[in-house]
Amino acid sequence: METIFSKIISREIPADIVYEDELVLAFLDIKPINYGHTLVIPKKAFTNIFDGDAETVAHMMKIGHKIGLALKNGGLATGVNLIMNNGESAGQEVWHSHLHVVPRLDNDHAFSHPKHIETTKEILAETKEKLFAALK
Ligand code: AMP
Repeated sequence: METIFSKIISREIPADIVYEDELVLAFLDIKPINYGHTLVIPKKAFTNIFDGDAETVAHMMKIGHKIGLALKNGGLATGVNLIMNNGESAGQEVWHSHLHVVPRLDNDHAFSHPKHIETTKEILAETKEKLFAALK
């Protein structure tokens, strides 16, 4: 499936590329949360973690780690969020997998606090069983 990100890989449209290897490309997000906000994408397109292979997803995270260190060491961040939106319910808008490397600055208030749900010990135990079974 063609997306705007495949066109960045094929150089049909420009991007501020900061890193490239045989598996991934990393470039600046066009609508940054802070300066240095970078996206790491697989060169061989997959939509998100649900159809992506574990090795490539792990490599995306490895490069996210490298870029996160560079943002901090380069003075562009005091903290970093590594975020992947997988699926519409998770806020994914571009259907070519990508890892956001988001530089954070003290008191930037870039994200609002997540909504938490009520739970009980019983619900947590039931949930653990469901996840445990699905992991087998
Ligand atoms: P998501 O909501 O996780 O799918 O985020 C998609 C991200 O892609 C957004 O942060 C956009 O600003 C970013 N984006 C979309 N088009 C481009 C582009 N041409 N170059 C760089 N970043 C882009």
